[in-house]
Amino acid sequence: MRVLIIEDNPADAALVRALLRDPAGAYETALAQRVAEAEARLRERRFDVALLDMSLPDAEGVDALHRVRNASPSLPIVILSGQDDEALANKAVAAGAQDYLLKGHVTELTLRRALGYAIERQEMHERLSASVEELEDQRASVIRLNQLKNDLITVLAHDFKGPLTTILGFAELIEEGALVDDDARDAAGTIRRNVFRLTTLANDTLALSRIEHGELEIAEESVDLVALLREIADRTDEPERFTVAATADGTVVPGDRERLRQVFENLLRNALKYSSDESPISVAVRDGEAGFVRVDITDRGIGIPPDEIPALFRRFARASNAKKARIPGTGLGLFVVKTLVEKHGGKLTVHSEVDRGSTFSVSLPRSGAIERAPQVAVVVGGATLGPFIAYELRSNGYRVREYKDLDELHARFAAEPSDAVIVDRDRNPADPAAIRLALDGASPQLIGIGGAKNPDGWDASLPKTFLAADLLAALTSAR
Ligand code: ADP
Repeated sequence: MRVLIIEDNPADAALVRALLRDPAGAYETALAQRVAEAEARLRERRFDVALLDMSLPDAEGVDALHRVRNASPSLPIVILSGQDDEALANKAVAAGAQDYLLKGHVTELTLRRALGYAIERQEMHERLSASVEELEDQRASVIRLNQLKNDLITVLAHDFKGPLTTILGFAELIEEGALVDDDARDAAGTIRRNVFRLTTLANDTLALSRIEHGELEIAEESVDLVALLREIADRTDEPERFTVAATADGTVVPGDRERLRQVFENLLRNALKYSSDESPISVAVRDGEAGFVRVDITDRGIGIPPDEIPALFRRFARASNAKKARIPGTGLGLFVVKTLVEKHGGKLTVHSEVDRGSTFSVSLPRSGAIERAPQVAVVVGGATLGPFIAYELRSNGYRVREYKDLDELHARFAAEPSDAVIVDRDRNPADPAAIRLALDGASPQLIGIGGAKNPDGWDASLPKTFLAADLLAALTSAR
């Protein structure tokens, strides 16, 4: 233990040093006679604890304490005070010192015990502050998520209602026989377009909810971008406005066909929606940066004010000119597009000029860069601990499945394999070797929570109360 003695009285300092002399070398002491000297020493090296005299030539009482604290914020401090200033010593404890000792009453035992306790107390204090901070972070995330959910409900209720009203209106007119021949055909076209709009909206909403829950899965298929883009363009209302051309050296990328369809459906639809009827839209598949294929979708539409571009990738963001022109939209698509592209290991960029048009570019890697987050099985149960673990892991990029007990895990493991299994040992008392045996040869990391203090056979083990950071560290260290 490294002890910094801050004491200007040579006799007092010598006594403390003598009491800490230890044949096994358990204590290493250094002396500072002024606060300024202590500050310099603390800058040079780390100490485990400081003993601080309350009256020093360059600082007195609580002022001395604050200066030492500032020099080393997490250093435990034990005050050495004279008989006559015990009140001051109490003040120092209230101001953050861990303990005090009265000169003249210091024995080897009291001194050593005070130093040990001071270190322990400071550690507890730090863990407690970290827990409070973590709780505050969690509270902020819950509030943010709740707000997001409310926004989503408001926006979606409004956006679903528009097309539904149109569909209902036209369906009623057809039913009543008010529309015939060409009019009926036009009405059917309008209905189809609105159903299509609702489908995109529903797909984007589902994707958003999966993204929020960290549950978005990306399949690994081979996708021919040119074929996909032609198919999407042909299915729009105005296929004749698109030209799809390829100059790239190979247009097949690894990816999830349905997710990539969602990406390009959104971008092609936007190109139509934000440009005037009949203006052409070019879709070009080119060689991008080394190892990437790039798809440029260029329209000659209303464009986007440059300073608003970065914000458009957030949920529900819309550009001022689109809102002013009363073009209907949710501001959901680009957020989903960007997330999906990034999940494929790709990039989305935009170049745009107001009233001249926009180019949205999607770069996708030619070979396997699909992000595959580790899968974790949580066998914890309980009203709060299980959901807390799942929430923390998902926010840190893990995929999570929860199981109510080990029987359920064992029954489903073959179909739902995981890279790690977290088990509440109090609720599921089982030997790790037995858990492994029942997993039929699979060998995920096993992390135990709680239980008796015997982590034999577990890859990592945590006490019942732990910080999110401890859990994440256990997962990475066990890997
Ligand atoms: P939505 O089109 O439903 O509003 P998006 O998330 O797809 O939502 O787009 C967000 C915003 O970005 C749009 O509201 C619009 O302001 C702008 N935007 C997207 N694509 C284009 C485009 N091709 N031309 C001009 N503005 C665009």
